[in-house]
Amino acid sequence: MASKTSIASLDIREVGVVKELKQGIVKVSGLPSCIFGQLVEFSRGSKGMVMGFNLEEVLIIVLGDDSLINMGDTVTSRSELLSVPVGDNFAGRVVDCLARPVDGKGAITATDHYPVFREALGVMEREPITVPLHTGTKILDLVIPIGKGQRELIIGDRQTGKTSIAIDAILSQKGRNVVCVYCYIGGSYSALKKTMNLLNEKGALSYTIVVCATASSTPAEQYLVPYTAASLGEYFMFNGKDSLVVFDDLTKHAWAYRQISLLMERPPGREAYPGDIFYVHSQLMERAGRLRAGLGAGTMTFLPIVNTLQGDITGYIQSNLVSMTDGQVYLSSNLFFEGFKPAIDLGLSVSRIGSKVQSGAMRFASSGLRLQYAQYRELQRLTRLRTKLSKEAMSDIKRGETLRELLIQENGKPLSLAEEIVLFYAFKKKVLEILKPELLKTFKKEFFSFICNTNPTLVDKIEKEQELTDEIRGALDKALINFFQDSKQDSKNDTAR
Ligand code: ATP
Ligand code: MG
Repeated sequence: MASKTSIASLDIREVGVVKELKQGIVKVSGLPSCIFGQLVEFSRGSKGMVMGFNLEEVLIIVLGDDSLINMGDTVTSRSELLSVPVGDNFAGRVVDCLARPVDGKGAITATDHYPVFREALGVMEREPITVPLHTGTKILDLVIPIGKGQRELIIGDRQTGKTSIAIDAILSQKGRNVVCVYCYIGGSYSALKKTMNLLNEKGALSYTIVVCATASSTPAEQYLVPYTAASLGEYFMFNGKDSLVVFDDLTKHAWAYRQISLLMERPPGREAYPGDIFYVHSQLMERAGRLRAGLGAGTMTFLPIVNTLQGDITGYIQSNLVSMTDGQVYLSSNLFFEGFKPAIDLGLSVSRIGSKVQSGAMRFASSGLRLQYAQYRELQRLTRLRTKLSKEAMSDIKRGETLRELLIQENGKPLSLAEEIVLFYAFKKKVLEILKPELLKTFKKEFFSFICNTNPTLVDKIEKEQELTDEIRGALDKALINFFQDSKQDSKNDTAR
């Protein structure tokens, strides 16, 4: 009887040959049926990703070190698209563009693998955004509020506090069940280290994933890193949680992509960027959103950062991104030098979704602030040359100055929701503009802790209900009277002494 012969299962792969290697970009002949995003393997173990084609060759970006690749090496295609490991264990870790750990704390056990270039969800899988995301920056929460699932661009010149605003938003998520991803693209190690130290100091690293490709990484790594960050954030969204992804910054990402395209000999377009730079960013931005209840109602919020040159927001990349996001926070270097920090220009900043989802208490505290501030700036400009002002104009200016002082805040010290509501409730009550500047500063610093000490349950009530009920209003009015009586007493004692 003839015995059965077993045949080992066959693994059929296409093979190509390396024709040219240039700064991490490889031209390969062969591989007739590969597709964009497909993973390939070089004969000495390095990996790459198919990035494009010309008539005779396949263009591949090398993932990692390209020193092991030589002309004439063979390349085999793998039957998978580029994917990265994702999971809960990534929180608190620092990873590279392929989600490999770079913090020396050992391997990370992944829950799943997600494609790097996942197609954004369709309309039927989404739901309108209805929940606000607390950022801890007064101007944002009050005037330019951001919703969970929204994309809000942070735009401004160099050194105007862009990173600080995004980091404050991450710090504010402590205890709020939002996993944060800080994606760092093309910057220096020292700046990254500074940011990470701040996150560590404030206890925010435990719920934050840092995904980085610094300036010393190859353009291919810098190009991939925001997509990997989005995949890591998506894991939490798909599992019914909330995530916040900060891209710091997409100008450098556009530079990396431009470099790759030029190396691939694609025709340069406006400002030497390739024609598909718009698609490269919109493909990324589309991935944010809020899932419908049947899919877990998870959300992913994006805070992309982009640099401007001398305040020019109409630059190619900047205006592209403005058109792809649900609003922008514009930081002005003039305001920064005037001492108005965070230097958010209220005239040029907008949130197209968040303002509709503010809670009742916030809506009360913030109503009319933008207009009032704009009027104050205008009055200030008009009266710069005139010394004699009408009584009405004087009182408007005084109110505007009070508002300006209230909106200023230091970086690294985000405010709680209750603190913001309490401060601006007092402003609405018109009891602050009669204060001397020093007393206003004391009020700003001490009023909230005064309430925490004298009526701790009130703070919890405000945080929980987020509505100004008659009871809360009554308690706040009483606290205001008591605070000013106390500070009057204190200043009397000081003068007596
Ligand atoms: P770059 O363009 O270099 O990335 P950036 O726009 O991200 O800069 P930051 O690094 O956030 O700016 O801030 C620049 C400097 O301004 C830092 O030294 C920071 O401490 C300071 N700064 C930012 N925000 C404030 C603030 N609200 N109050 C005081 N100082 C601030
Ligand atoms: Mg920065």
